[in-house]
Amino acid sequence: MNPFELHIAASLPDALDYLARYGQETAVLAGGTDLVIRIRSGREIPARVLDISRLKELRVIREEGTDANPAALRLGALVTHAQVVESAATRAHTPLLAEACATIGSPQIRNLGTIGGNCITASRAGDALPALLAMDAELVFLSKAGERRVRMADFFTGPRTTARRRDELLGHIVVPARAADERSCYLKLGQRKALAISVISVAFQLKMDAAAPRRCLTAAIAFGNLAPTVIRARKVEEAVMGRDLDEATIAQAVEAAVGEVSPRDDVRASAEYRLAMVRALVRRGLERLGGAAS
Ligand SMILES: Cc1cc2nc3c(=O)[nH]c(=O)nc-3n(C[C@H](O)[C@H](O)[C@H](O)COP(=O)(O)OP(=O)(O)OC[C@H]3O[C@@H](n4cnc5c(N)ncnc54)[C@H](O)[C@@H]3O)c2cc1C
Repeated sequence: MNPFELHIAASLPDALDYLARYGQETAVLAGGTDLVIRIRSGREIPARVLDISRLKELRVIREEGTDANPAALRLGALVTHAQVVESAATRAHTPLLAEACATIGSPQIRNLGTIGGNCITASRAGDALPALLAMDAELVFLSKAGERRVRMADFFTGPRTTARRRDELLGHIVVPARAADERSCYLKLGQRKALAISVISVAFQLKMDAAAPRRCLTAAIAFGNLAPTVIRARKVEEAVMGRDLDEATIAQAVEAAVGEVSPRDDVRASAEYRLAMVRALVRRGLERLGGAAS
């Protein structure tokens, strides 16, 4: 392992000062479950590492808006996956994210790994990402120049590359609260039932019509590991919005899904298998949320 200078941030201003001076050559360390492995394997060789794990203000989940109607949750970048899964606020207001984080790694990984680390790693298989994309979350970056907000939809610029500037720290993620009449689910296919990186995943958040329970009013759907980055499934959304989720609509949505992904072969699965599985998961999710028998 190559030597590097380790700086343990004593405060948020200290961290931002450090990134302003050395951002180009610095890797930020949060839980370390991605970064340490990349440094050990030589895939990442930073000259400096900035440890932000002691910045308590970035470990907080806060409701924005009123208690009865929080318009959004604000999750500090150092909030762990375990916190997301266990928090009463995330379970009540952003259940899609809580469900996605529950599928990550093992209890040990969920206790260390952070929501911010999952975003910045920007893996096409990152489990929090389809959920955050479907919920239209916003990333709040901090730097000495001030605060910059980036919508999740504008965040991925390519495989494992993002709109983050090197002098910026991801500070918070703002996630709109799910409305009472919305339904959601996260479907992940891995090679095993636990401790498995996803082969593919699909996040669904649908608003159904109270007067016509099978009618889908709005749909936000995102795919993991089916394209170079996590993507919104816009054609599937169009295929279901304003329609009853009956067999004809679901069959159209499944065809739309196949038309908008570009899966690849890798050690976990072939592109062909991924295509077959996207059909199965899109059907399963729509049947589950639409209330039709599976
Ligand atoms: C055994 C194992 C199983 C795993 N299983 C899964 C899984 O099922 N699903 C899944 O999605 N992931 C999985 N992971 C990957 C990993 O645990 C997650 O991506 C985790 O969320 C990373 O968070 P972290 O805090 O450990 O990030 P770190 O390793 O500390 O950092 C990751 C990257 O983000 C940057 N970074 C971190 N925080 C900030 C910040 N606030 N501002 C700017 N840059 C920042 C770092 O510089 C680095 O580039 C697994 C990892 C292991 C080792």
